[in-house]
Amino acid sequence: MDTTAPLVELDEQGLAALVDALRQRGYTVIGPTVRDGAIVLAELASAEDLPHGWGVETEAGTYRLRRREDRAAFAHSAGPQSWKTFLHPPRARLWQADRSEDGTVAVREDDEPPPRYAFLGVRPCDLRAIAVQDRVLTGGAYTDPVYGPRRAGAFLVVAECTEPGGVCFCASMGTGPGLPDGSAHDLALTETVEPDGLHYLARAGSPEGADILAELPTRTTDGARARAAVADAAGRMGRSMDATDLRSLMAGTMTAERWDQVAGRCLTCGNCTMVCPTCFCTTTEEVTDLTGDHAERWRRWDSCFDLDFSHVHGTGPVRSSARSRYRQWLTHKLGTWHDQFGSSGCVGCGRCIAWCPVGIDITEEVDALRAEAAAPEG
Ligand code: SF4
Ligand code: SF4
Repeated sequence: MDTTAPLVELDEQGLAALVDALRQRGYTVIGPTVRDGAIVLAELASAEDLPHGWGVETEAGTYRLRRREDRAAFAHSAGPQSWKTFLHPPRARLWQADRSEDGTVAVREDDEPPPRYAFLGVRPCDLRAIAVQDRVLTGGAYTDPVYGPRRAGAFLVVAECTEPGGVCFCASMGTGPGLPDGSAHDLALTETVEPDGLHYLARAGSPEGADILAELPTRTTDGARARAAVADAAGRMGRSMDATDLRSLMAGTMTAERWDQVAGRCLTCGNCTMVCPTCFCTTTEEVTDLTGDHAERWRRWDSCFDLDFSHVHGTGPVRSSARSRYRQWLTHKLGTWHDQFGSSGCVGCGRCIAWCPVGIDITEEVDALRAEAAAPEG
């Protein structure tokens, strides 16, 4: 990357041209849009589909859209979905089989090439979440056959965060609101609302990103307002988490009383795992048609809050209590994830706080576990 190149920015027409350029290159452009009372991620036909003039209010167990007085397109924090919906889909057919009249069975793998996605508006915390899933699903001896091809073809346009939500704590996790150095991406944008309209500081992060940026109508800028907006956002996070030595903290909590307290509230619904951009567990199921001549194997998201998740043949579920299931989720996410994958499994997006129906707050639970560990015995 040429770090001496002058900084450039797009205006609203330039952003529209970016969406058009990506579509012309054959990408299915996915980005934020308003649907069903939330800002969701869906295919964009044009930049007009972005949530111009919408923000959100989030708190524990709460998510609401709110109107803004400006036309900002990226002035909202995380919604119910993350990019894993597209890279690691909730349901994926793995193979199907048909029995012919002579009784032979033909099995076909589902190996259709996936869409080439361009993700527009990836927050830095979610970019880190993609990196975490890269490590889990492509970083070992085997590349996940569903995730790998989708991820390999994806073009990532980051939108730095200037409007953190009430449940966000990426600043304390070192994952945002600005783009951390060395993050793999193709383009990075920073939106500012100026008297003459929307401005987007734009930087290329890959050769293809540079090619596309060179096609767009840009003008030079010093980038000062964009940088100030991101720095200001870091000071307006709704929450924080003390991330000091979480691995050791979690390892020492096996018998903590706090697990009983949280188990008294947790419904074991699994919402937190569904919305979490790093949770990756799946199960498989077979379905047949009524004749029994056609069968399919599907993979779908699973949750460690599901009773069957820890079912051992002949024994039953190893984690039958809410206490043991919540403890498994938190100690894996913040503790043993380090042993398994070399990083935390939490990027501070706050989704599990907003979408928990009873408002259980991961930052509050960590504070409580830390306080219990520090309390004198007796
Ligand atoms: S912590 Fe909240 S979202 Fe997660 S399983 Fe319990 S009740 Fe559901
Ligand atoms: S644990 Fe919660 S805050 Fe952390 S990445 Fe998952 S959903 Fe986001």
